[in-house]
Amino acid sequence: MSLEAFQLSGKNALVTGSHRGLGAAIAVAFAKAGANVGCHGRDPKPGPACDEIRSAGRKTFYFAADLANPKACSGLIEKTVSEFGSIDILVNNAGIIRRAPAAEYPAEFWDELIAVNLTAVFHLSQLAARHMLEKGTGGKILNIASVLSFQGGVLVPAYAAAKGGVAQLTKALANEWAAKGINVNAIAPGYMATDITTALRDDAARSRQILERIPAGRWGEPSDLAGAAVFLCSSASDYVHGHVLVVDGGWLGR
Ligand code: NAP
Repeated sequence: MSLEAFQLSGKNALVTGSHRGLGAAIAVAFAKAGANVGCHGRDPKPGPACDEIRSAGRKTFYFAADLANPKACSGLIEKTVSEFGSIDILVNNAGIIRRAPAAEYPAEFWDELIAVNLTAVFHLSQLAARHMLEKGTGGKILNIASVLSFQGGVLVPAYAAAKGGVAQLTKALANEWAAKGINVNAIAPGYMATDITTALRDDAARSRQILERIPAGRWGEPSDLAGAAVFLCSSASDYVHGHVLVVDGGWLGR
């Protein structure tokens, strides 16, 4: 196998939540690997990833949509197909966290988090897979899970439930679509330095406890996901189905 198997040349991708954070890093990595990449977020204005994708010589667009609204999913997939002509790669990355003790956990936190972190992942995967199945050339769906797909976490019951669900959904969809040439896999990041972990990193005691447990000795950076994401969306991973690849500096092995 040549290194070309790790390229994404000629592929059309959509990365949800690529306005900033891990999604932005994945979107830029895809463009550098040769793909056109549609970017998305809630913010009405595009983030820096779009400019970086254009600088890499690839096509892009920005689509603002709140994934807490189930109707937003179809608009996002249709926009990708109308801009690029097809959708070959979908990365379900957009996500939120809401922290509160379980006994007081507000119902609104639960409903919003499950809608964005789990329900939208299913709807977007279903809509993208319909296009991939119709075109008949397969595709790649990559879900961003978490180490909390395996662990319960503290003060984050909805997040742990949703991310556990994302890992299971990854396997369920892979079982149905593997024979049709669609790879469904997930990455489970560990503790990464993005806005979603600001509260943890601002809490000196919690931040120190976390850091002491990471064998790599540092928080992850968004760019740490690039290699795994490109691999799982390239033909180099054509026989990888239903896998949850942990990228956590060794956290879960400890
Ligand atoms: P982040 O920096 O907070 O970025 C989240 C992204 O998701 C933003 O682009 C945001 O758009 C978008 N988003 C959030 N809610 C949305 C909604 N309702 N509708 C549409 N877009 C929405 O977080 P991150 O760390 O990059 O997280 C990305 C993914 O990785 C999430 O699924 C998260 O659970 C997962 N993850 C993160 C870590 C970590 O340590 N950072 C660890 C494990 C898993 P706007 O910018 O427009 O708000």
